[in-house]
Amino acid sequence: MEISGHTQMLCLIGSPVEHSGSPAMYNYSFRKLGLDYAYMAFDIREEETREAIQALRLLHVRGFNITMPCKMAALECCDELSQAARLIGAVNTVVNEHGRLVGHNTDGIGWVQSCRELGFEIRGAKMTIAGAGGAATAIQIASALEGVREMSIFARKANFFGNGEATVEKIRSSVPECVVNLYDLADKDRFYEEIGDSDIFTNATRVGMKPMDDQSLIEDTGVFRKDLVVSDVVYNPRLTKLLADAQAAGCKTVPGIGMLLWQGAEAFRLYTGQEMPVQEVMERYFME
Ligand code: NAD
Repeated sequence: MEISGHTQMLCLIGSPVEHSGSPAMYNYSFRKLGLDYAYMAFDIREEETREAIQALRLLHVRGFNITMPCKMAALECCDELSQAARLIGAVNTVVNEHGRLVGHNTDGIGWVQSCRELGFEIRGAKMTIAGAGGAATAIQIASALEGVREMSIFARKANFFGNGEATVEKIRSSVPECVVNLYDLADKDRFYEEIGDSDIFTNATRVGMKPMDDQSLIEDTGVFRKDLVVSDVVYNPRLTKLLADAQAAGCKTVPGIGMLLWQGAEAFRLYTGQEMPVQEVMERYFME
């Protein structure tokens, strides 16, 4: 489809963005479905976020994705927030609904969807999750909103623990039926005990990502059972040490690349009201 006077614009803002796969993924999907949109990427520094969003509002763009470092600043520029974005405290997708900018966060629901695609349903399950940073918070809030029964969060006392405490408070007040507790990641006995009692373990820390790719938070691989699902948010490398160890023990695994793909697919649906051709996008842009 050629760009015309009717073409609606979408874009990504953040920095750096030149290596982002989003323009290729979205533009391929628009062409495939015959949708009259075009997607660009703009390098925007954190302090430029407000001005950039004002410009996008003026241009009546249909919407935009936000990546680091603009995610928090973008929240304040929205006229309305989805429940998930409000509780997570960050937006990664903004949709222009007839002049009103509605902020969403599709990271957490993208993770939930990546689990569902592989046959694991979070509703009614117990999850142990390590981490209290950006990715962890998005997954924890989305899982609570999607009906996780019980969640045990482990974070390092020195880093991000306060963030974990805030997440626990928000879940307890917004989703009181979800049982949620926060523990010190240094308490290994408790860590393995909670994993032993869970349906899914999720690593939502940087451990396993290059240059920590020879590390896994689970050193005692005896905790892996065949009916434990093991998920990792890290996607660089695709097969982390955690996932390799879990697979060797016969566990079903959910790789981090699925979250990346499905957060994009959720944004695509919000922009266009249609389903992204996920399978083709996966094969074309997400396979190594
Ligand atoms: P962040 O900086 O907000 O949080 C990092 C978390 O990792 C914190 O809880 C921190 O305490 C913990 N951590 C770091 N080093 C640790 C260590 N040595 N031991 C224990 N905990 C440690 O980062 P983020 O944005 O949440 O990203 C975390 C990871 O998730 C990164 O690898 C990132 O690439 C990945 N990620 C993946 C997706 C996806 O779509 N799959 C989306 C966002 C982030």
